[in-house]
Amino acid sequence: MEEAVTKPKPPLKIAEEDGSCPAVERIPDLQGALPQATLLIQNLQEGEVHAVHPELGPGGSWKPNDCQARDKIAVIIPYRDRQTHLTRLIDFLIPILQRQRLDFRFIVTEQYGNDLFNKGRIMNAAFIFAESLGVDCVVFHDVDMFPQDDRNPYSCPPGPRHLGAFVSNLGYQLWYKEIVGGVLAVSMSDYRAVNGYSNQFWAWGGEDDDMGQRILSLNYTIERPNPETGRYSMLKHVKRKRTAPKLIYKLLGNSANRVAYDGLNETDKWTIRKVTTRPLYYHLYVDVGEVPEEWRAKA
Ligand code: UDP
Ligand code: MN
Repeated sequence: MEEAVTKPKPPLKIAEEDGSCPAVERIPDLQGALPQATLLIQNLQEGEVHAVHPELGPGGSWKPNDCQARDKIAVIIPYRDRQTHLTRLIDFLIPILQRQRLDFRFIVTEQYGNDLFNKGRIMNAAFIFAESLGVDCVVFHDVDMFPQDDRNPYSCPPGPRHLGAFVSNLGYQLWYKEIVGGVLAVSMSDYRAVNGYSNQFWAWGGEDDDMGQRILSLNYTIERPNPETGRYSMLKHVKRKRTAPKLIYKLLGNSANRVAYDGLNETDKWTIRKVTTRPLYYHLYVDVGEVPEEWRAKA
């Protein structure tokens, strides 16, 4: 009697002629729309995530071995007191970035102390750290943004690319043209060209719109995915108070002027107090300095 022989499947051939990984549009094993069931936020320990991904190197780093990655990226996550979101997000992103065949690592940038949040400063600090890792671009990624489709490219963009364009809580609509909040990919040279984020926004709101205006003021176009692949679920969290709307609007009235002097070049506005290389991410503790009186008065 003949035995049934199961032929082993030939491994999927990924690499292009020159050995490099294909661009996202040509990767054959992406899934498209992703199930969102995992977003039920139960606590997930970092150790559990690491145990499922022993292939990750220090700082949650990884690169494909079936082709030569085109881009070396750092995912920068601004963070304070949202542990359950953080571990879930990293767990969710790892397989997506692996399927996209990117050379990646994670940088969690946490503000030191309990004072008013300054997202611009902790982003600038993390960017400087990312430069020291020799990456080609950074992807700024709010901790509560979960992609709904793995065809949205996390690769390095030729100009600023707003990945987080269509968000569940915002009715999957783009509300205004300078919007770049949530998830933004930018090359090292473009981030330098816009002088990074403003250091002047405290508490909630403004810094992202200011970034959008910086980008547009230098005549870049903001690239966006299409409305299907660019969908994100934003997790629920306590809404932070917009403490000083008048100060925010005043600043947003002169974003283009501030590009020259308010941003990455003011390196005395923050100090990286501590860097820890953890199994899933580099952890930065960033001191953002004193809150100015006019902002504190409103808090
Ligand atoms: N963030 C954080 N803890 C905070 C406030 C902000 O981790 O207490 C980070 C987190 O990455 C978050 C991002 O900053 O996704 C933007 O803040 P938030 O989600 O509160 O802004 P909103 O969704 O209201 O625009
Ligand atoms: Mn949010």
